[in-house]
Amino acid sequence: MSKTKRILIDIDGVLSNLTEAYLARLRKDYKVQINKVQLTSYFKEENIVSLTGLTEEEVLRPLRTPGFFQNLEPKNGAVLAVKSLIRKGYDVCIVSALMSKCPGCAGEKIEWLDKYFSMIPEKNVIFAYRKNLVVGDILIDDAIHNLKDFPNLKCVFDAPYNRGFKGDLRLRNWKKAVEKIEQVLNQK
Ligand SMILES: [Mg+2]
Repeated sequence: MSKTKRILIDIDGVLSNLTEAYLARLRKDYKVQINKVQLTSYFKEENIVSLTGLTEEEVLRPLRTPGFFQNLEPKNGAVLAVKSLIRKGYDVCIVSALMSKCPGCAGEKIEWLDKYFSMIPEKNVIFAYRKNLVVGDILIDDAIHNLKDFPNLKCVFDAPYNRGFKGDLRLRNWKKAVEKIEQVLNQK
């Protein structure tokens, strides 16, 4: 590699199983069944309110429960893929937005990263709403609003709410993700 390439990776819905864990909590706490495919717009409380008839306060309660973000599971293969990208010499940075309506998530996200992704140095963790302002060769994210203004390669981590967006690469999961990411980076 001539110049070290920087890979920016989102947490929620990319490295972590936020959506699955959240829908499970809605089932458990309110007995409402939502299937992931029903989430046709990005994970937003208005979307869940309209699907369930719950109030905004009720919809946010699971996310505000202490330990929710800390107890998420990494997606299958995510830890190995990140280790492999670092081993290959890429500058891997986390770029995650904090949820202002769930202020406790900040500390929990840091602890979660330390538990599963301690191979990523603390200085490579960036909390940002406007991810397009962060300099990187590729952004791996599930939210269209983050990807659409990003100036370099856009890698969409597949979810029902982002199927209308093309991007430069779509990852359905972390299987063979490293090869696919390298392929688009090398075409650049
Ligand atoms: Mg996300």
